[in-house]
Amino acid sequence: MVGEGFGGFHGLRRLEKLLGPERACLTLVAPHDYLLYSPLLPEVATGVLDPRDIAVPLRQTLRRTRTVLGRVTSVDFDERTVHVQGDDGDSEIGWDKLILSPGSVTRQFDIPGVAENAYGLKTLSEAVYIRNHVIAQLDAADELPDTPAGRDERKERLTVVAVGAGYTGTEFVAQMQKWVKGVESRWGSINPDDVRWILVDLATAVLPELGPQLGAKALRVLAARGVEVKLGVSVESATPTSVTLTDGSVVGSRTLVWGAGVAPSPLIQTLGLPTEKGRLVVNADLSVPGLKDVWALGDAAAVPDLAGDPSTPTAPTAQHAQRQGIAVAHNVAATLGVGQARDYRHKDLGLVADLGGFDGVAKPLGVELTGPVAKSVARGYHLYALPTTAAKVRVATDWLYASVLPTRVVNLNQVRPEDALIAKAQGVDLY
Ligand SMILES: Cc1cc2nc3c(=O)[nH]c(=O)nc-3n(C[C@H](O)[C@H](O)[C@H](O)COP(=O)(O)OP(=O)(O)OC[C@H]3O[C@@H](n4cnc5c(N)ncnc54)[C@H](O)[C@@H]3O)c2cc1C
Repeated sequence: MVGEGFGGFHGLRRLEKLLGPERACLTLVAPHDYLLYSPLLPEVATGVLDPRDIAVPLRQTLRRTRTVLGRVTSVDFDERTVHVQGDDGDSEIGWDKLILSPGSVTRQFDIPGVAENAYGLKTLSEAVYIRNHVIAQLDAADELPDTPAGRDERKERLTVVAVGAGYTGTEFVAQMQKWVKGVESRWGSINPDDVRWILVDLATAVLPELGPQLGAKALRVLAARGVEVKLGVSVESATPTSVTLTDGSVVGSRTLVWGAGVAPSPLIQTLGLPTEKGRLVVNADLSVPGLKDVWALGDAAAVPDLAGDPSTPTAPTAQHAQRQGIAVAHNVAATLGVGQARDYRHKDLGLVADLGGFDGVAKPLGVELTGPVAKSVARGYHLYALPTTAAKVRVATDWLYASVLPTRVVNLNQVRPEDALIAKAQGVDLY
């Protein structure tokens, strides 16, 4: 198995149940020894959750799987090997059956300055870095003298630009804005109302995944909190201290958070196989056409959506990746004489978005919800979807603490800025 995300984790968990040790040796190649529950990353950025709360340990949960830490950088389909680049050097691993679930990376486009100055929100190190970075900007702004130069720099440090009004950018801005409002007593001369929040998207709606009414509701929540939402606008270029938008405006800012969608893992491009919008083409049973014993799933694969429009792939969501992981496990086991292979079919259960405070929007099973009800549904769904009891208890406990204890606001400074840039944090430049 390549990749320890929702697809890889749930696939291996099911394979461990289906195939006893006498039938199969299971090997996972992955850069981390945990499954990252990414939908709760914005809550790590705000410090509501501890980073470890949403990192489910693989070695405790996948007890029969050998975990090799590293990234697969190439696949030899004739020799049946993968090349692995690990922290301790390179190696070749042989396989009889190969499942590719390397997920996706933040889509950056080719915009000058973005690779060097924008931070994504797809990994734990990025979430932890963004949190520390925002605190550091507020600390520094608080110390600046009240001179023309000091006032200019203060504006830059107190301006946060987020790109992408999908769930990543919208949840990030909404939750961070609420969090900064809640920790104002830390600073002497600046006021949280001095912080300027800007959310930019080329699309004309916020949270388009949730439909026009819930998108409009989210927009109203953001506007009421003073967040400037600029739709139909993108970024033309970025520097360490400014962001130039396509409407011609130049925003002084030292914080650019990039959540403008995802692109399939760059590993897929190295395979020399047919792709659809960068995702590996697969059959409805997740097998790769023309190759024996190779399957792919999740954000990296274009899986026909049999429960919707089969000519379009399933959406890149955890909901699909998790269920495709379980489906692929059955199909792999079937090739070893256990059970029957089946096509992947899952009707979308809807999406939830937590907007911080008591606000949220959600569309479970097509029912549109807003406010505290939506927020409760979102939290309930995450508790249900977190894969271990320990993770559920940790997250629930931290939510409880956050509701009664003072907001946490320490800058732990663990992640270096260069390690938090998208290329390094998400391993984009290895291939
Ligand atoms: C902030 C945020 C919020 C989200 N909210 C939601 C939500 O509310 N609901 C929802 O359904 N979805 C949500 N998603 C999307 C969801 O996280 C993804 O769709 C899901 O993680 C895809 O699962 P996957 O297994 O395909 O990939 P991933 O979960 O991304 O896992 C792929 C794994 O493969 C590893 N990998 C990459 N390349 C290699 C390689 N070459 N070799 C070995 N390993 C490799 C990566 O480290 C990664 O851990 C959110 C995503 C983000 C970032």
